[in-house]
Amino acid sequence: MNKPAEIKKPAKRKRVNVRRPDVMTLVQEEVEKHYHSPIVEKLREHGGSLTIGKTTVRLAEQFGFCYGVERAIDLAYAARRVFPGQRIFLIGEIIHNPEVNRQLSDMDIVSLPWKELTADYDQLTEDDVVIVPAFGAPTNFTDKIEEQGCHIIDTTCGDVMKVWRRVRTYAKTGMTSLIHGKRGHEETRATASRATGTDGKGHYLVVLTLEETDYVCNFIRNGGDSAEFLAKFEKAHSEGFDPKIHLREIGVANQTTMLKSETEEIQKRVRIAITDRDGNADNFQMFDTICGATQERQDALFDMLNKPMDLLLVVGGYNSSNTTHLVEIGNENLPTYFIREASCLESLETVVHFDLEAKDEIESPNVLAGFDEREATIGITAGASCPANLIEETIVRVLGLRGILRKQIEEA
Ligand code: SF4
Repeated sequence: MNKPAEIKKPAKRKRVNVRRPDVMTLVQEEVEKHYHSPIVEKLREHGGSLTIGKTTVRLAEQFGFCYGVERAIDLAYAARRVFPGQRIFLIGEIIHNPEVNRQLSDMDIVSLPWKELTADYDQLTEDDVVIVPAFGAPTNFTDKIEEQGCHIIDTTCGDVMKVWRRVRTYAKTGMTSLIHGKRGHEETRATASRATGTDGKGHYLVVLTLEETDYVCNFIRNGGDSAEFLAKFEKAHSEGFDPKIHLREIGVANQTTMLKSETEEIQKRVRIAITDRDGNADNFQMFDTICGATQERQDALFDMLNKPMDLLLVVGGYNSSNTTHLVEIGNENLPTYFIREASCLESLETVVHFDLEAKDEIESPNVLAGFDEREATIGITAGASCPANLIEETIVRVLGLRGILRKQIEEA
């Protein structure tokens, strides 16, 4: 008797390498056309500062696209060239910048929901291409697109994967990962999903603020009400997390784009709490996973703040974590506007900008109006996801409001 034919599940797709030399040459030209800025280049060549009349624009030494973002964008553009006629999807956004995401959408790269695995994922087929963004994606998302047999273009940044390796190691050794990050951020969700380890039995807790850290530290020292703890950290801990058990051994990691000083403070406070409880820090480990690009942009801003400035403009997507931290640094030192693009500088009198406390875009009187005819220095920086063309437009806009024409800037 013939054996019934075996029903085979489609083989899991391997990650696709789209970085072919012929493709990348064309991609470079396209990316250059979309995001390059001759004015920013010129300023960089001239030490990052430009003075025309009584107005000086100063750029931070490091700002804008980082290597991880450049790579992710290159791969997304390459995907379209390698698969010209196929449906291409993206899990959420490639990076947190509306301009870049708009360009991808113009290339018919369709964003899929990223907060939950919706029915959209069931509709994916073996012919479809799915791009994993620079922040990575939780394991249930990557497993799903593999099961659907899609072509996968994985743009996850190497620095993010370093954090994954670390939290997996914590899980392997029975340590709980305490992740300094935003519980709803793509990267933190992706990292948290790896912190449960290969067997899914590991645990994690996400903390964002020093206040949350102190609450955890108090629990480490004195115990407390578990139900209250779990309610406070709703959606910020692993399934089955029990603060009375899972705060015994802690390894700290962080979202790559956090404020370094805050991460260090969190590490310090947790280490001290564990030492107070145990008499030593044997049950504590830490690993600084702030990425080099985030660090360089924060350091460059601190350097820039050593010289007097009248105003700081931080350009970037409002949901960009590393950009937000640049704004926090600015806010502590001088008038700072967090703007999405140049047009937010509506006029000399009015600016539309994101207010971190209100967590919303608001309209304010523009401090530029108060500078009148006097000399003024305006600093500009941008997060790792901001393209140079948006910075150029900001330079042109701010100088324009001071009566300086683009032509003068180009000829300066
Ligand atoms: S900000 Fe850091 S972690 Fe994120 S893409 Fe850039 S280099 Fe990678």
